[in-house]
Amino acid sequence: PKPRTRLHEKLARGSGIERLMQDLGRAMAEGAGHVHMLGGGNPAPIPEVTARWRDMMSTMLEKSPERFDRMLGVYDPQQGNRRFIQAVVRLFNEAYDWGLTEENVVITNGGQTAYFYLFNLLAGESTSGLRRILFPLMPEYIGYAEQGLHPETFIAARSTIEELPGGMFKYHVDFDNLPWDESIAAVCVSRPTNPTGNVLTDAEMRRLHGLCRERGAYLVVDNAYGAPFPDMIFTDVQPFWGEDTVLTYSLSKVGLPGTRTGILIGPPEICRAISSMNAVVGLANGNVGQALTLPLFESGEIVQLSRDVIRPFYQERSQRAVAAIKEAFAGLPCRIHVPEGALFLWLWFPGLPGGGDALYEDLKAAGVLVVPGHFFFHALPEKWDHAEECIRINYAMNAGAFPEAAREMAAVVKARYEAG
Ligand code: PLP
Repeated sequence: PKPRTRLHEKLARGSGIERLMQDLGRAMAEGAGHVHMLGGGNPAPIPEVTARWRDMMSTMLEKSPERFDRMLGVYDPQQGNRRFIQAVVRLFNEAYDWGLTEENVVITNGGQTAYFYLFNLLAGESTSGLRRILFPLMPEYIGYAEQGLHPETFIAARSTIEELPGGMFKYHVDFDNLPWDESIAAVCVSRPTNPTGNVLTDAEMRRLHGLCRERGAYLVVDNAYGAPFPDMIFTDVQPFWGEDTVLTYSLSKVGLPGTRTGILIGPPEICRAISSMNAVVGLANGNVGQALTLPLFESGEIVQLSRDVIRPFYQERSQRAVAAIKEAFAGLPCRIHVPEGALFLWLWFPGLPGGGDALYEDLKAAGVLVVPGHFFFHALPEKWDHAEECIRINYAMNAGAFPEAAREMAAVVKARYEAG
């Protein structure tokens, strides 16, 4: 066999995110009829929202054909579409008074790409030794796991577990035991957290930011499900912004994952670097998402649509999903992470025998696709048995079939406990 490069080993050898996207792609292509598709992170098709995107496209075709021609026929500058960036700046300044300028914004081909750039920009070998990214609230987004080109890009910390009444639980940052050292270039959290639906409180964000400031590290906050869009947050919190803070947003969860549009807000030096990376890796970004949503950013409608349609839709689905899980798993040791946002339920089966992969395969054989929990515990320095006892499910795809999927899951889990 030919020698393999580090990049090949790292990116092209199979990974959790690849398996997840394959399962998702297959189930969607074959029509989800014969499986309960509770894996993946696809947003739900919300009729009112999909209609709005269709309407935006036909309006552009009818009323502004020159905008349509420009969208398809012209490379945008590597930073992103100028008018879209101006609209983003205005929207955030009007909503939160952050005092952003155009230098604080850069567009990427989806949030996923933004993280690949960001992690490898900030971490790895540097002129003053190894630099690393710290994940302080594991479990954390599976899609980060393989993105660091240097083998020691990431370091992670276990969360503490708070058991709550009614079979619920919640993770917290273990502030007293974070593995800080001078190599930490940035601390990264998703808020709401994928996979758990945790939403770090405003106080926790201030504390994390304070620690970052003391140590000269960036604070990176992934708002893929955050406010003001798509606003899948069910608790009362404010978006966080401060010095040396990097925020990412995405149009995916407002129903436009096909457009691959990420929005990064950060210090000018970071935005300039990401902009350069855009040019080197891809010349320019896809611009369909920016063109389609520009009028909604300019009018602020993206905020209302998220608050009035998208958030209530997911909140209602989440409550129904919790009720269905509680009913199906009655009498079994199943715990649910409090769903404070995003589109997932995170289930924990304390003491479950057999491990997470075996559970995944049994569930798949029973026609229920989920994501085994251990993928979300990447970069932890030592093994945590808890990781083998959790699964993530996407509750948003097919509400009608969810109670049946919950019952099938419960039957599989019960059989595992009984088999010991
Ligand atoms: N970050 C989080 C937490 C996510 O859940 C996702 C996608 O599910 C992404 C980033 C990347 O999303 P996209 O590349 O579609 O913007």
